[in-house]
Parts: sequence; structure tokens; C-alpha cells
Amino acid sequence: MKSLKDSVAVLSGVGPKKVEQLQSLGIETIEQLITYYPFRYNDFQLRQIEEIADQEKVVLKGTVVTEAVVSHFGYKKNRLAFNMRQEHVVVKVTFFNQHFLQKQIHMGEEITVYGKWDSKRQSLMGIKILSSGSQQEGVDEFAPIYHVNKKVRQQTLVDIIAKGIDGYLPLIQDWLPDELVEKYQLLDRQEAVKAMHFPETMSQNQAARHRMVFEEFFEFQMRMQQLRHQEKTSDIGTEILYDNARLKAFIETLPFELTGAQKRVTNEICRDMRSPLHMHRLLQGDVGSGKTVIAAIVLYAAVTAGFQGAMMVPTEILAEQHYLSLTDLFKDAEVKIALLTGSTKAKEKREILAQLANHELDIIVGTHALIQDGVDYHHLGLVITDEQHRFGVKQRQALREKGNHPDVLFMTATPIPRTLAITAYGEMDVSVIDELPAGRIPITTRWVKPQQLNTVLDWSAKELRKGHQVYVICPLIEESESLDLKNATELFETLQQYYAPEFQVGLLHGKMKPVEKDEIMKQFKNNALQVLVSTTVIEVGVNVPNATIMMIMDAERFGLAQLHQLRGRVGRGSDASYCILVSAPKNDTGIERMKIMTETTDGFVLSQKDLEMRGPGEFFGARQSGMPQFQVGDMVVDFDILETARQEATAIWEQPDWQLKNGYQLLAEKMTEIEQAGKFD
Ligand code: ADP
Ligand code: MG
Repeated sequence: MKSLKDSVAVLSGVGPKKVEQLQSLGIETIEQLITYYPFRYNDFQLRQIEEIADQEKVVLKGTVVTEAVVSHFGYKKNRLAFNMRQEHVVVKVTFFNQHFLQKQIHMGEEITVYGKWDSKRQSLMGIKILSSGSQQEGVDEFAPIYHVNKKVRQQTLVDIIAKGIDGYLPLIQDWLPDELVEKYQLLDRQEAVKAMHFPETMSQNQAARHRMVFEEFFEFQMRMQQLRHQEKTSDIGTEILYDNARLKAFIETLPFELTGAQKRVTNEICRDMRSPLHMHRLLQGDVGSGKTVIAAIVLYAAVTAGFQGAMMVPTEILAEQHYLSLTDLFKDAEVKIALLTGSTKAKEKREILAQLANHELDIIVGTHALIQDGVDYHHLGLVITDEQHRFGVKQRQALREKGNHPDVLFMTATPIPRTLAITAYGEMDVSVIDELPAGRIPITTRWVKPQQLNTVLDWSAKELRKGHQVYVICPLIEESESLDLKNATELFETLQQYYAPEFQVGLLHGKMKPVEKDEIMKQFKNNALQVLVSTTVIEVGVNVPNATIMMIMDAERFGLAQLHQLRGRVGRGSDASYCILVSAPKNDTGIERMKIMTETTDGFVLSQKDLEMRGPGEFFGARQSGMPQFQVGDMVVDFDILETARQEATAIWEQPDWQLKNGYQLLAEKMTEIEQAGKFD
């Protein structure tokens, strides 16, 4: 029996060689073949002359009104020219080195030409004759264009896909519930798949794309809801019955009053912990909004309930930093806390592991090592992960398999526009700290040209004389790490000379070992170094309140979110701080970025702009792994559809046992399939 899971080898003309070629595109089954959609189409639609932009590629159809004349020039070059009339406008058409087309061009006959429009000359530079007289070239008005590689030719792929569709289209089942197809007037799946490849009109193709985007987003949102549902209904959730009186007393010991936003998110998190359901929450807050103290409070809450807590961060420096902050915050509380990273000595590590297992330790701070094999907790109740760690399904599973079912709090300082957060972290609840502690002096941001660097350095020396410290971020050269290092070293040497002998300058770069980096960071923290030159974006979260100047060289090379993170390294104390962007942007985007940076310090405003300027792929880029990859849909452009899909998916999961309901059978099967494939995990 025919099946969509059949190998492409079943198609006529697809032998072992073609099978291998298709494999290089990730296509093995018929299903993969016919859902390998083109990324664009040759748009051969007819156009009115008035609406064509200069140099635009278009198709014009008209009547030939002069004989085609061929003239030769240069060495083996020729030009063919004739006039055609489209309605009342006469257009000159020219082909270069295609004199053989002459025989297709006849006075008084209809002709359709694809070419590039020159609006000044009102002429068309011909590329191809699509049809002439009675001779139809069998033009495909909307030829699909696929991503191919060296092994597979465009036309080969088109032919094979056409065969696949011919033979298997009727097998395609529509797993979207009828009610949704009707409600949103979506094309049915068979028609949509076909029109994704071979549309008859552009509007039909748009309808097909719309359907596919909806389907894709709906599938994703259904999976997110499924995960959420599984988390919530799992019978082994963690009920963290913390001691409210002790928690209040602990909050009293803090050297400051919590902001309104901090109180609100603390309540949200505590409510989740107290509930027998699993917590899976994202805490967002701009740099300096006070997330660490929230982490301390809720970890403490877990401890008062007799649980252990773990805080997991991406780098050793950051782990150490958090360890120090927490130790300080817990100095009057009875909490046993330890640090575990890759550079923890073997003996110490053994002790820590033993203490974790017998519950002598309450809280552990560290890198990913915390959830690896060999680390066993006595009674783990809460895991907090910070920055860049998408603590996904797999990690939770890893812990669960070890007998731990902790509540999970995910913290990020990357302000993600709320709408996007819902999508990116679809299965999580979201808490936002949208208020900075009172009394912060806003950071002054200035954009200067490289020629003004000396003035800036003179001014920085004055700040240094007041006892402050300075960060200098080197230009980012993505193509070459060695060039990066060369530039950094040069800048370091220049600055060393400039500030000598009054001030000490240090260098931090990506090629250094973690211990070396740590050493430099320590010296900077202790003010043994007053100026820190760095290539790597200074480890997120580093806290040196005495540093008041952040100088960023070639600032236009960084994205807005990154610039904002860098800027957040200063302004952490009670002194006025400055961010100096040294930059001569070569394009509008760069100029725009510099302007935005000088205009706002609100991380959410910035990230929204960043998203608009770069799109979601770039926005999350390397920073946020685990972002869903969509084949057809675009999270920003198609945001309305994404939101609709989310609402519909939520509504379905709110119905108990929806899987058993009429009309949902195929959808239920689809969900099982997605789950087994681990899609979006
Ligand atoms: P984040 O982790 O969000 O970047 P931190 O927790 O490191 O921010 O807080 C930044 C600084 O603000 C720290 O020095 C912290 O002690 C201080 N802080 C946090 N909350 C408050 C508050 N409510 N009032 C005053 N200062 C605060
Ligand atoms: Mg709970």
C-alpha cells in the first residue's frame, strides 16, 4: 500500500543516485519531498507599465509593432531590438546576444516578454520570451525556486516534486480540525500543498502560504500546550510549603526595600512553588532590575520548606559572582551554600557531592555540571537557571530520571518583547520585573566619532582620578578570531601607554583560559586594574559597581540588545555613569542604532526596536538556542497568525480529554507523532 512514509525511491526515474542527491537536502520520504517548499517563485505576472519601478524585473505583454532588427557590434556581439505596444504605450525591447529570437517576433502578433524595466528610457531589457504568436512556450507563470545545493539541480527537484505530488496528493490528510479550517477559511491541506509548489495564481499561493503558516504555528502551539499540560498534571509535582514567617523575616534583613515589581514577581513565584503543580516560569528583568535578590528569596523559601535549591548559570565567572552575592545575602540566615564548577578541585568536589546527597548543603550554585551524572540531590525542590540556558524538556527529563521533580525558574536579562516571549517560551508562565530600584542615576550615553577618541580618553582619565574604573570593549570582528586578538592587543598596548604610569590596564579576550579570565576579572574587581580592555562581551552579570565608564569601540558592529547588555555593566553603584559609543557607522542601520542607544535606556523599548530592525532569527541568534525553527512562518511578519494559533490551541487543551472528541482524531494522532519525534523540544 502506498504511504507518505514511502522512500522517494518508489518514484519513477528516481534511482539510487537521485536518492542520494535528495538525501543531501534532507529529503528521504515522499512526505519530506512534498513538504520541501520553495522559498520563492519567479513572478511572471503581467504588469501595467505605470506601476513598474525602475530596474524591476517584469513580464510585459503586447503587440509587436516594428520588425525585429539585429545589429552586430564589437567582437561577436549583437543586439536585437523591436517595439511592442501594450495598450496605448509603445515600449522598446532589446535583447543582447540572442539574435536567434528574431524568428519568434512577427509584426502584429502578440508577444510576452520577461525582462528588466528601464523607466527612464521606457524600455525593456529582454531576458526571455515567454510566448509569441500562437507559440506558447508552456510558460510556468510562477515557477517555484527551491533551496538546492551542488548535487541537486533546480529543474531535477521540480520534476521529482511534481511526480511526488501527482502520485501521492490524495494520501495527504488534513489534521487541522474542520472547525478551524472553516472559521479561518483556510485552504484544505491537499490543495495547499499543491499550491505551495505549483500555484496557478499568486493569490492562490498566498492562500496556501497562509494555511501552511497557520498549520505550522498551530502545531507548535499545540505542542507547547501539551508540554504545559503534562507539566501541570504530572502526579509528581513539587509542593514547596515554605515558612512564610521565616521568609518575611529574611526579606526584612535585606539592605533595601523591594520594588513593587519585585514584590509582585516574588508572589507569583511563591504561589507556583506552594502549588502541588510543577512550576515552569520565566522571570524577565532588565540588567540591574534586581533578579539576583529574587533568586535568593525564593531559594530561601525552598530551604525553609526542607528542600534543596540549585542555581545554574552559563559561565564560571558568573557562577562565582552569584555565589558571592548569595553568600552575602544569606550572611545572617542559616543556609549552607556551595559553589560547583568545572574548576572545583576533585577533593572539594567529592565533599560537595557527598553533602548534596546527604542534605548537609541547602543551596548549590554552579555551571551545567549541576545536573550531570554523578550529582545526586537529597531533596531538590527548586532549580533556577540564568541566561542562555534554555532549561528544556530534555534537562527536566534528566533530573526526573534521577528522581527529582523540581520547580523550575528561568531568569533572563534579555528583555524579550512580551509578544515574542509568549511564543519563544510558549510553554512557560512569564513574570516581568518592569521597574528599576529607585535612586538609580540614569546612565548617560554619548555617541562620538573615532576622531574624538583622544578627547574621550582625556576625559576618562579625569574619571579614573576620581577613583572610578573603565571598561573598553574592542571591535567585534566576526570573520576572524585572530584578527580580533590582534586588534585587541593593539588597543590594549595603546591604552597601556596612554594611561601609564598612573593607571593599570588589563586585557581579557576569548582565547584565554577560564582561570586566566577569572584572574583578570578578579584584579579588576579588586581595583588592581583600573581599565579593562575586553574582546569578549564581558560575561553577562558581572558586577563591579565602581566601574562608571563603558567605552565601546566600533559600536555599530554590535546589535542593540548586546549594546544594552554592555551598557548595563555600568551604573551599578551610586555614581553617575557613562556609556560612550565610539562609532562611524557606514549605513543607516548603524546610525539608527547609535541614535536609539542615546535616546533610551529602557531594555524593552530597545529590544522591540532590535526585533524590528533585525527580525527574530537575528534577534535570538546565537544568544538563545532552542528557539523554534519555522519552515514557512515568520514570527514577526505573521505574528497575528501566531497569536490566533495560540488562542485556538489553548482553547482545545482546556477541554478535558479533547483527544476523544469527534473531529479531533487526526489531530490527536498528529500530537502523538510530534511528541514521539521530540519536535520543538
Ligand atoms: P540583575 O541580576 O537583575 O541584573 P541584581 O540583582 O544584580 O540585578 O541587582 C543590581 C543591584 O541592585 C545590586 O547591587 C542589588 O543589590 C541592587 N538592588 C536589587 N534590588 C534592589 C532594591 N529593591 N532597591 C535597591 N537596590 C536593589
Ligand atoms: Mg510547585
